[in-house]
Amino acid sequence: MLKPSVLFVSSEVYPFAKSGGLADIAHSLPRALSKDCNIEVIMPLYSFVNRKTYNIVPANESFNISMNGIVYPVELYKCLFEGMSYRFIYSSLLCDRDFLYGPPDSGYEDNALRFALFSRVIIRVLKENSYDVVHLNDWQCGLVPLLIKEDKSINTKTLFTIHNLSYQGVFDYEVLQTLGIDSKYFTMECLEFYGRVNFIKAAIADADMVTTVSPSYAKEILTPEFGCGLEGFLSHHQEKLVGIINGIDTEHFSPSKDKRLEKPYSDLKAKATNKSAYIKATKLKGVRKPLFVFIGRFAWQKGMDLLIEALPIIASYECNIAILGDGEEKYHMALREIAKENSNVHLSFAYDESLSHRMYASADFLLMPSLFEPCGLSQIIAMAYGEVPIVHRVGGLSDTVKDYNDFDAKKAKGFGITFDKPSVDAFLKAIDEAMKLYENKSIYNKIAKHNMACDFSWQESAMSYLNLYEKISKKENL
Ligand code: ADP
Repeated sequence: MLKPSVLFVSSEVYPFAKSGGLADIAHSLPRALSKDCNIEVIMPLYSFVNRKTYNIVPANESFNISMNGIVYPVELYKCLFEGMSYRFIYSSLLCDRDFLYGPPDSGYEDNALRFALFSRVIIRVLKENSYDVVHLNDWQCGLVPLLIKEDKSINTKTLFTIHNLSYQGVFDYEVLQTLGIDSKYFTMECLEFYGRVNFIKAAIADADMVTTVSPSYAKEILTPEFGCGLEGFLSHHQEKLVGIINGIDTEHFSPSKDKRLEKPYSDLKAKATNKSAYIKATKLKGVRKPLFVFIGRFAWQKGMDLLIEALPIIASYECNIAILGDGEEKYHMALREIAKENSNVHLSFAYDESLSHRMYASADFLLMPSLFEPCGLSQIIAMAYGEVPIVHRVGGLSDTVKDYNDFDAKKAKGFGITFDKPSVDAFLKAIDEAMKLYENKSIYNKIAKHNMACDFSWQESAMSYLNLYEKISKKENL
């Protein structure tokens, strides 16, 4: 059978530009699929992307996109990086910014226009090339299925992946005209959402298939608690919704090959060298004490309020805590206050890929009290680096981390400490369990060692995507 040809569209791709897990997926999933598909990845060429480092060169294709009578010049670029073919879209409106979507506390005011332009360029690329499937990710390219429906000349099938339903791309009604979109699509069946325009809703309406990043999250988003107002709409389209768990790039996140580490390792004894180096570098005290780390965005979703409330109590235990992240200013302030009072709390306010690897390699436990979590990568990376994650049992966390009380060395799953309710009490109880588990070194080591040996690669999930590509490729146009 012929390999399907796929255009994989993402507003961020590691290592070119990354704000979170989406960039990791857009890096690792196409790679995992590349032996079974002819796959190309396309993203905006933000002005901060280093063209020289990655040898990004003009593709000698430039054209204009017009929306509502205004003309936006666009140039395409390309590069071959680590065997993968990447295409880039440069347009001043989309790319000449300091941030991907806006400063941490807000989005850019013209994001609707920026990403409508992104979607319109994708349409142009689909018209010029014949792909079987376009794999779209998140609201930034959410208009593509609607624009395909409008343009009868495109036969490409659409698969839309929801990485986080709480970011939907919702804008005032007035933007419709600026985007050059016919108001006939402003209906309950398509773009309309409480009187506003919703990009992700249009994608759910018109995509041939919708996936999200874990089976549990696929069920949760059908409920008012996690559906962010789209639970009814998603239930209506449930027959085309599938949850596929994310994997990680096991080359990039491999403790035995990781050049960023003090000492790459494949056993817990060698892992300890990394912990010692990190403890020394941060001037924390007590290499024998358990080291808890938190690595992630400082956002409500990540359970930051819970973490901040619990932190002074955790810090009163014989342990060290290291936090790496960036995000809302109120969380920076609260954390700073706590660290002032507690010398065993170390803060790094940054987005630092290398440091994150060193922290995964040094930590004994990862804290992940997320209120909701579509999939979550940090807990998977942590397990691959021989840590025991402490997670709220929700979404992808419950699919990827099994409770250590049910430990079974024969299971291919990773294990950690899980808690059911996102309350300070439940979280602290889990921390108490962690402290006890750490005392019981033989059991702790057994779990950490097991986690390190698990297969968190894309192998299985990439096959699920491939099956969907093949399934929708065969679908007749209505
Ligand atoms: P998100 O909701 O942010 O996508 P995920 O857990 O799915 O959360 O993915 C987060 C990814 O970003 C992981 O690879 C994690 O290690 C990384 N990450 C998050 N915050 C930082 C940071 N401040 N510095 C470096 N890496 C980070």
